[in-house]
Amino acid sequence: MPENRWAITCKTCSHRYTWSGALSPTPPCPKCAADKLAAADPRTQEPAAADVKEALDMAAEIEELAGELPEAGSEFGESVSEKASEIAANIRTHNRCTESQFEALDNMLAGVQRWFGD
Ligand SMILES: [Zn+2]
Repeated sequence: MPENRWAITCKTCSHRYTWSGALSPTPPCPKCAADKLAAADPRTQEPAAADVKEALDMAAEIEELAGELPEAGSEFGESVSEKASEIAANIRTHNRCTESQFEALDNMLAGVQRWFGD
């Protein structure tokens, strides 16, 4: 281990890391640097507020279609409809839609639409 190896505790995130080299300027914290990169990555950002309306429209369509499912699909329709209205209530409460909520609604809508064919 080289002599100039320092154990540093990050003041921002309390992450502990070692650094070999000069202590000035303050060596970057690898965890903070990674967090900063992730925050700048559009894939990790929450969808825009506009998605709230689209998500609620999807939920409404799911509930409508689920109610029109044939007898064989009525159980599936009930569970999907329940799930969709739960997610919709959550989106309304927070007035925001996460990527996973949006994806769930998207998948459920595709699921009920499959019952009606093309
Ligand atoms: Zn840090």
